[in-house]
Parts: sequence; C-alpha cells; structure tokens
Amino acid sequence: MGYIIKEFIDAPSVYACLECGSHLARRDDVISRTFQGRLGRAYLTETVVNQQLGKKEDRLLMTGLHTVCDLHCRVCNAIIGWRYVRAHDRSQQYKEGRYILEQSRIYSIDQPAKQESDDHVSSGAASCEVPADMPSPLQT
Ligand SMILES: [Zn+2]
Repeated sequence: MGYIIKEFIDAPSVYACLECGSHLARRDDVISRTFQGRLGRAYLTETVVNQQLGKKEDRLLMTGLHTVCDLHCRVCNAIIGWRYVRAHDRSQQYKEGRYILEQSRIYSIDQPAKQESDDHVSSGAASCEVPADMPSPLQT
C-alpha cells in the first residue's frame, strides 16, 4: 500500500524535485529553457520520471489554447509543472506530449560519472509562454 518505486536517472546531470530530491529529468532531454511557467522560468523537456499527472484542463497560454495536465512529483506530490496534451494551434503542436518543469520547483544535480559538459540549448523550440505585459530577458 502506498508503495512507490522511485526511479533514478543515470546521467551526468539531472533535474530533481526541490521538495524531495527525486530525479525528474535528464538535463540532456531539455528541449528549451526559455519557457515561462506559472512561477517564472520553465523548461520544456521530453521525458519526466517519478511524475504523476493531474486532471486535464484547457488553459489559454500566450501561444494559444492548450489542453494540459498539472504535473506532480509522484513521491511528494508537489506540483512541478505541467504536460501539454494538446495544442490547438498547429504551430504549437511540437509541444504535445512534452513537459514543462518549473525552474523554481526543481534543482540540478551533477553526478560524477563521466565529464560531459554540454550546456547548449537546442534551437527550433524558441517560443515562450510569456505574458504580454512582461519583457522576457530569458537568457541562460
Ligand atoms: Zn518530490
């Protein structure tokens, strides 16, 4: 009962839940670091482990209407971001099935395995969920 299998990511650099330290995503899986979450800067990523999805709902973001689920840490249940289920605007559909991680809810862990510092941000996914009244100095 209530037994949780916690996954560990074997990668040089991972993001973990700020509350409980559970691994969430590989840093290499981050597609863009220029997104805007509800709490500030956020990362778009391909996969998240140790997670659990909340109820589906439609949310109007800067880039249009999206169907999203809140993303919770499965271990401590903290909200860590959301998952894009459906983008109603065709130009935004690359986000479908991908996850937003709120930067303020996670921290990065460097695991001393192999040295491979590669901090580049892949281009092509450059759109931001930035409120219109807010300039976006989103530089890493
Ligand atoms: Zn957690």
